[in-house]
Amino acid sequence: MATDAFPSPAQAPERAPVLIVLTRHPGLAHTPRAHITDQRTLEFLLTMEGPEVARTTAWGAGLKDQTRYRRASRRLPLNLFQHELEPVLAQAALATGMVDLPHGHEFLDLTQDDGGVDATVVERRSGHEYTVRADYLVGADGANSRVLSRIGLSVRGEMDLVPQVSAWIKANLTRYVAHRPGALYWAVDPDYAMWTVVNGFDEWVAGWSVPRGHVPDHDEVVAKIRHSVGDPRLAVEIKAVSTWSMSHAAADQYSVGRVFCMGDAVHRHPPANALGSNTSIADGYDLAWKPRLVLTGVADASLLDTCSAERAPAGRQVVDRAFTSVGQFQSIGATIGLRPETTQAEKWATVRALDDATDDRGTVDDLEYRPSTARRPRTARRRCTACSSSPV
Ligand SMILES: Cc1cc2nc3c(=O)[nH]c(=O)nc-3n(C[C@H](O)[C@H](O)[C@H](O)COP(=O)(O)OP(=O)(O)OC[C@H]3O[C@@H](n4cnc5c(N)ncnc54)[C@H](O)[C@@H]3O)c2cc1C
Repeated sequence: MATDAFPSPAQAPERAPVLIVLTRHPGLAHTPRAHITDQRTLEFLLTMEGPEVARTTAWGAGLKDQTRYRRASRRLPLNLFQHELEPVLAQAALATGMVDLPHGHEFLDLTQDDGGVDATVVERRSGHEYTVRADYLVGADGANSRVLSRIGLSVRGEMDLVPQVSAWIKANLTRYVAHRPGALYWAVDPDYAMWTVVNGFDEWVAGWSVPRGHVPDHDEVVAKIRHSVGDPRLAVEIKAVSTWSMSHAAADQYSVGRVFCMGDAVHRHPPANALGSNTSIADGYDLAWKPRLVLTGVADASLLDTCSAERAPAGRQVVDRAFTSVGQFQSIGATIGLRPETTQAEKWATVRALDDATDDRGTVDDLEYRPSTARRPRTARRRCTACSSSPV
């Protein structure tokens, strides 16, 4: 919410915050979730001043992809998790002196007129309600956006299609993956979890589908992890378990008057292709520079009409792309012969045959990655069910 014209950074310390970022939870992202941070996002983020936090290879690995990715941008993607990125962004915003970030303050309702927006907010701990008057209000309040509904907009499409569990765990899986490093490990048989590498080889997010409304308890999560790895004695520490659901929906319009929506509020889709937070950050970039130009008198207010006009088609495209990818991933199992009626023994025979076929080439990239020192342990070959590893 911009409460005043955007001052230059030099003026900022003497001024009241010009941007109030309300968030109803007591902290920032508490689980990893988003991680693949794409090139465009890196370009946005690196327009901010500050030290470089981390650099690691993720998408664009391999000679063929590297050329394509390098042609698209000077930046390469990072495997940078949401719970690590958000504090960096928050610190950078606070350091400008122009931003206030009250945690535990929940947006309740709004009214708007020609001159501004009045937002009703509750401080959740005390129950104290107050009103904020702002020039503009941005609803970046996620997949259950209250702001979107308060301005009479909604997403169009299918909601809550495939309930999922994400379990953030510590478990040392080095012996199963050291010889085929990747950012994601897909199990083509849905009976097994898929794996996202959080921290080298011993911190992971495991994900799998569950029946609607089902939240697995500690024992069920541990059992699923051990089953998926194929090691009934694997030491597993659970850091967090969250549930979410795949949707396939986007809003056709993102704004009404002085209120704008962005992020999951307006596009809801599976994480396939890592399009969620990357698209949200691109939305946010649009909603940063355009209001700034209007508030500083450089541009006419009609510039803000382009926000919805330009971002909504991109959101729809992203939603469709992510959903198409889910279908493509799902068809891999059937393509290699793993069908619901296939017996467990037949599935293993199929997987072992493929496993043997790729044994000497490596799996990350035929041209670039060849396993040398880290050879696949024989036991892992028998047991590991994370059949495919690749920087998808
Ligand atoms: C398992 C998983 C893996 C993913 N992987 C990737 C990936 O690799 N790359 C990628 O780009 N994306 C990925 N995503 C998607 C990504 O996490 C989301 O798209 C992204 O977090 C959306 O950002 P957002 O700011 O719109 O919403 P959110 O991150 O949901 O943030 C919404 C914020 O609004 C606050 N809020 C909600 N209601 C109110 C209210 N009434 N008042 C005040 N505050 C409120 C919440 O507290 C929260 O802080 C993944 C998602 C999942 C579940």
